[in-house]
Amino acid sequence: MHLFIAFIAIGVCFGACQTKEKKVLIKPSITTADMDLSVNPGENFYQYANGGWMKQHPLPDEKSRYGSFDKLAEDSKEKVKLIIERAAAENAEDGTLAQKIGDFYAAGMDIESINATSYNPIKPLLEKIAQVDSKENLIAVISELQTKQLTPLFYFYSSADQKNSDMTIAGVYQSGLGMPDRDYYLEDNETSEKLREAYVAYLTKLFALSGHAEADAAALAKTVMTFETYLATASNTRLENRNPHAIYNKVNVDELTNMAPQFPWQAYLNGIQVTEPGDINVNQPKFIKEVARLYEEESLENWKAFLSSVVLRKTASYLDDEFVNANFAFYGEALSGKKVNEPRWKRVLDSTNGALGEAVGQLFVAEYFPPAAKVRMDKLVENLRIAFGQRVDQLEWMSDETKHAAHEKLAAIRVKIGYPNKWRDYSSLAISDDSYLDNVLASNQFDFAFDMSKIGKPVDKDEWHMSPQTVNAYYSPVGNEVVFPAAILQPPFFYLDGDDAVNYGAIGVVIGHEMTHGFDDQGRQYGKDGNLQDWWTKDDSERFDARTQILVDQFNAFEVLDETFANGELSLGENIADLGGLCISYQAFHNSLEGKEAPADIDGFNADQRFFLGYSRVWAQNIRDKEILKRTKEDVHSLGINRVNGPLPNMQQFYDAFNIDVTHAMFIAAEERATIW
Ligand SMILES: [Zn+2]
Repeated sequence: MHLFIAFIAIGVCFGACQTKEKKVLIKPSITTADMDLSVNPGENFYQYANGGWMKQHPLPDEKSRYGSFDKLAEDSKEKVKLIIERAAAENAEDGTLAQKIGDFYAAGMDIESINATSYNPIKPLLEKIAQVDSKENLIAVISELQTKQLTPLFYFYSSADQKNSDMTIAGVYQSGLGMPDRDYYLEDNETSEKLREAYVAYLTKLFALSGHAEADAAALAKTVMTFETYLATASNTRLENRNPHAIYNKVNVDELTNMAPQFPWQAYLNGIQVTEPGDINVNQPKFIKEVARLYEEESLENWKAFLSSVVLRKTASYLDDEFVNANFAFYGEALSGKKVNEPRWKRVLDSTNGALGEAVGQLFVAEYFPPAAKVRMDKLVENLRIAFGQRVDQLEWMSDETKHAAHEKLAAIRVKIGYPNKWRDYSSLAISDDSYLDNVLASNQFDFAFDMSKIGKPVDKDEWHMSPQTVNAYYSPVGNEVVFPAAILQPPFFYLDGDDAVNYGAIGVVIGHEMTHGFDDQGRQYGKDGNLQDWWTKDDSERFDARTQILVDQFNAFEVLDETFANGELSLGENIADLGGLCISYQAFHNSLEGKEAPADIDGFNADQRFFLGYSRVWAQNIRDKEILKRTKEDVHSLGINRVNGPLPNMQQFYDAFNIDVTHAMFIAAEERATIW
């Protein structure tokens, strides 16, 4: 469930940069060419640290955002491409990982065959929907779409029970919208209105491409828009979904049936072959009640229009060029401001990675992950854990009782580095080079069945929820674990042969950031075993809230675009993690210097300056206006500029390193700073 990864993941999703020669040692260098020395660091540190980089890396037409993080992800893709192409050229034996990887990619790249078949691959599904003539076969179709992970209404998934974290239970989570958030349907402003028009135009195009006359297609699109607006109105806001207690509503099938009686739950469960799920966590009861109401009150014709639109928009990017272009015109251009689509090989590579992540991952780590990197990371993580513990002890605002529990939780954090110690078994997934879409759906079905197979069983603590070739990291509150995939352990995050100042500023802060998630506004509500439970005294909770409110107010004051401001509430957890990660990693860095001679300046910067520059460089990026608006609505992470200029002015060490004082724009008076961890 990427959904949950999204809320705990550190960075954003893409990143960058390393040479192809594995033997070349990369020394970290803070080059002034990446900086903008015309700006005083105290006026705008982000510009000072990254101005040169931003100038040298203008936005490519196919990107809505491009930063040093994205650049690293691009580089990871180039490596994965070599692996996949080799697999494709190998003529591997049927059933081997190389055959599956190679054929999945080859089928996706065969655009001639895909164009020749038009929308034939989804015709059987569309016909099934067209033939629905009763509520009985309506629910059968809804179930079938679910098993193919086309997710018509809500996610049905498995995860650890939030209050019994050793056991896996089923869950239901709101979905069903074609636009990325409920706000797009409901907000009364010109930007949202234009996007709604563009979305209806997109749906119209999809219906037209799948054989409907123009007027017919337009009417169907309007029906779908009305239907989705009902779902949007009943959906929780992103902020509401950040409250783990509010989205924990454990019921059994009888109770679920009482909660939303018009929906035939047992028939649905039979259809997805989870006849007796046991406990189910209904994340958003209000939403499920609305689904049930729609089930009873909406006509079969309206349901058929909606379900057809789900099939069309969820498969469009795997169909012929016309579908792909229509999909890009809305999601790429209208929503994100991209000028052209990503090259096809990158899109196909993404879906190959999605379908066969740990298969590709095995080949990736064998080639690109040196064991020495794991040893160095293990050491760094333990140093960060020690520093975090010291900082907990130093906190003035926290009682001894809560400190004791915090230490227990910190000591219990499990650490995963590089890649899983056992790989997923793909033997029952059949992939051929015949049809791209068939492969995608086969993989979806395989994933869904795997997810369902976990229900009612103990949680597999060895499982990873991110592939090793992903440039990212995550903390899981219910697992109380931090996870660092192999692909993030590279420059500019991690220099195997680099100086400590830069490594602590970059990967050290990432480690601290992830650990801090166990203690942010959400994570602090989980105990050391990953169970949702209150382990804070009331006074400590109040003091924590008061301190984090300072951070909320600081970020709410950042204007991201004309008259649009950052959302300090939505991004609070990430901002706490950035500030906490900085403070903890700075302390760990200084611990590492104890008893040693002070490090010499390198490239004209002293160690503390290199720490802060190393951190800032990770967030260098260019971004389009539309993407700024989109992310401000959806993304729990702040924009690159605010991940730098937001947390740093809360640290005295930052002011000291660059001689910043009250005369500079970034200065915040001591009593107005946020100090949390
Ligand atoms: Zn994070």
